Amino acid sequence: MIIFTDIDATLIGHDDYRYEEIRPLVKKLIERRIPVVLVSSKTFVETVSLHRELRLIEPFVIENGGGIAIPEGHPMAAESDGREKNGFLLEPLGVPYATIRRFVVSRRMKGKITGFGDLTVAEVARLTGLSEEAAAAAKERLFSEPFLLKERDALEFVTGQASEAGLAVTAGGRFHHLMGAGMDKGTAFSRLLERYRRLGIETGRTVALGDGPNDLPMLARADIAVLIPRPGMAHEPFEHPRLMRAEHPAPCGWRESVELLLSER
Ligand SMILES: [Mg+2]
Repeated sequence: MIIFTDIDATLIGHDDYRYEEIRPLVKKLIERRIPVVLVSSKTFVETVSLHRELRLIEPFVIENGGGIAIPEGHPMAAESDGREKNGFLLEPLGVPYATIRRFVVSRRMKGKITGFGDLTVAEVARLTGLSEEAAAAAKERLFSEPFLLKERDALEFVTGQASEAGLAVTAGGRFHHLMGAGMDKGTAFSRLLERYRRLGIETGRTVALGDGPNDLPMLARADIAVLIPRPGMAHEPFEHPRLMRAEHPAPCGWRESVELLLSER
């Protein structure tokens, strides 16, 4: 078995960020050599502390599938040409940040959009409601760029131009996102799985857990899909031959679902 999991509202509590309830189970999974792979829309800097605190040893996916971080010492590191950062090798799965930034500051985007890279930490904090420290971590982009529209009706134009530049726009609430075309959590799932198998690491059945629409491409590709409920929010319709709906929100729903799957082995 191999587990791919979203973080927010899947592995850790939606409002309180709790994860004490899953700690012993994660430890047990590591002892049993069941890989646990974090797959998040967060940046490297935002994800690495949780990876350390849970003592995880596998690579993790950042920025919604834009790239992966491979711990130095993991078998996958030997075949990686990623850039070293704090004990990890960072690899783009899609397009590196510098390419995305070139597009954001290009003449055709002039007056259309403002990217995180154009904003100060204080401005990001004010716009997102994050603390300055959290805003600084969210600003450490490597593979994707959140942006605001300067002109209200420019989204269609920006999307068209992005597509010509090999990029894709994910429309969000307040911020939209620019990243490499065709990249999402599902693509990242498949690329990583392929890497595990190429290394001869026995993965067995694949399990993916998530709570949001951006998790569905990953859930769709897994042998077993687990949807974690979020209080007051319905999931969009989703069909899967082996779909489990957790009874409780994160983190308890995660623990209950994985324990159930372990008991079936
Ligand atoms: Mg989530």
